[in-house]
Amino acid sequence: MARSAKAAVIGCGVTGISTVSHIVNDDRYTANIQLDMYDNEVMAGKGPAYQRDSGHLLINIPSGEMYLDDDGSDYIQWLEANDYPAVRYTSREQFGEYTRDKMESLVRDNENVHFIPGMVEDVRFDSGTGQFKLTADGMDKVYDFVFLTMGMLRYSDPYSLEGEEGYIQDPYPVEEVLDDLEGETGIIGSGLSAIDCARFLLLGNKKERVFIFSRSGEMPSVRGAHADIRLQYFTKGTLCSLVENDEIPLSSLKQLFMREMEANGIDHSLLWRRTGDTIQDLKYDMAHPEAVGRLHHLIMALNPIFSEVFQYLSRTDKRKFMKEYHPLIDENHSPMPKEAAEKLVEWAEDGRLVIVDGMENVAAGDRFSIRTDEGENYRIDTLINATGPVKDIEKDMNGLIGALHDHQLIGRNEFGGIMVDRRRNVISPNVGTLKGMFALGGLTVGADYMSTSVWILIQNTKKLAGQFYDQLT
Ligand SMILES: Cc1cc2nc3c(=O)[nH]c(=O)nc-3n(C[C@H](O)[C@H](O)[C@H](O)COP(=O)(O)OP(=O)(O)OC[C@H]3O[C@@H](n4cnc5c(N)ncnc54)[C@H](O)[C@@H]3O)c2cc1C
Repeated sequence: MARSAKAAVIGCGVTGISTVSHIVNDDRYTANIQLDMYDNEVMAGKGPAYQRDSGHLLINIPSGEMYLDDDGSDYIQWLEANDYPAVRYTSREQFGEYTRDKMESLVRDNENVHFIPGMVEDVRFDSGTGQFKLTADGMDKVYDFVFLTMGMLRYSDPYSLEGEEGYIQDPYPVEEVLDDLEGETGIIGSGLSAIDCARFLLLGNKKERVFIFSRSGEMPSVRGAHADIRLQYFTKGTLCSLVENDEIPLSSLKQLFMREMEANGIDHSLLWRRTGDTIQDLKYDMAHPEAVGRLHHLIMALNPIFSEVFQYLSRTDKRKFMKEYHPLIDENHSPMPKEAAEKLVEWAEDGRLVIVDGMENVAAGDRFSIRTDEGENYRIDTLINATGPVKDIEKDMNGLIGALHDHQLIGRNEFGGIMVDRRRNVISPNVGTLKGMFALGGLTVGADYMSTSVWILIQNTKKLAGQFYDQLT
């Protein structure tokens, strides 16, 4: 029988819920294991991505690939059981209802699983007992294990505009925050969040016209057709054979990747298909769904393996990878639904959406003045920040991250988030590897390459539950 253990799960988004679900559904689960799940009442069971918000905000992964259980049809079945149409891309709000439902049934069906509403303010480590003292709502509780599943760091503020009148630092929930905006409106960023904002403002006719400003102007690609990919070269087996002195050289990874592209009939030039003209690039993807779909599915098939091998690259290779190859993978990693791309093209052609690249600077004043590298100047009344979260923990020193950093329980990873080992045990600069503390999700972006989509998070939480049981025995 496993020894008794008390575990705290800090953060009840997809990662926290799925970690608990894998722990309680494991054969080794016994009544000796107590699990306390912490989050605030509004976010619990959903996290910021799937909270109550506009129905125009869609999941970017087909419904059949978004699920929390081992059963791939779980979300579809839930939609049908709840009289929602099982469409290919549901609203994110509906997915949030599903995940909240999952969390509630975990708590209801397992008397040792508890939800404790409230944010965790502090965690201290006692190296004598190996236990953690957690503070929430001014109360202390002691745990043998702590899971940091707290999601992303704070929203970034790349032009230091927070607090300026007319500046919206974080656009979510859009239905509340973007409902009644003054004058000419611009969005900073051109990723999935920027698309959310544009869709909400234009589909709901909240605005006649919006601007999207960014450095590159590049948007995620458009999801192509389904493709069956058979991995022959970039396999775990081959990669293991390449490990020497605990490292894998980037040059070998590149070679395997290129061979895998060829073996799956994907032209290398697809990686460099972008022209710099955003709308033309979206149209290209829509006109070549088969070819683009093969590339997307290859990247998705490689994602779990790549997420593991990333830990075997030297620092120099990681830096080179992030600079030279990551942007190419990133463009093809989280594609937008075709329906979303069609609308963007339509709005751009009607002049309702103006995409401005080469953004260089913003000056605040009566209005925001946005300058591009070509010397153009745009005057905007309301500016929405859709640039996403920071990756550097030193830019998020409020709250629990700041407290953990202050106690030297967590350390900064230069590639984002915190230092963890290959088992996702947190590495403390003071104490060393903390066998009882795990992290996964937004906090481990520097270790788990491209691993914040639901389908990959749930694969990683399964491994995490396994690591937990390994520590218990
Ligand atoms: C706008 C948006 C849209 C997205 N759309 C998709 C999509 O369509 N498909 C997809 O696969 N992925 C999508 N993602 C990726 C998304 O990150 C993951 O799907 C997933 O939601 C991440 O889950 P998580 O549990 O790791 O983090 P989160 O969902 O961020 O959950 C972390 C939780 O921790 C809580 N927390 C933080 N600090 C504390 C504390 N001190 N004490 C207690 N609780 C705390 C937070 O309140 C939060 O509820 C999207 C992300 C965003 C931001």
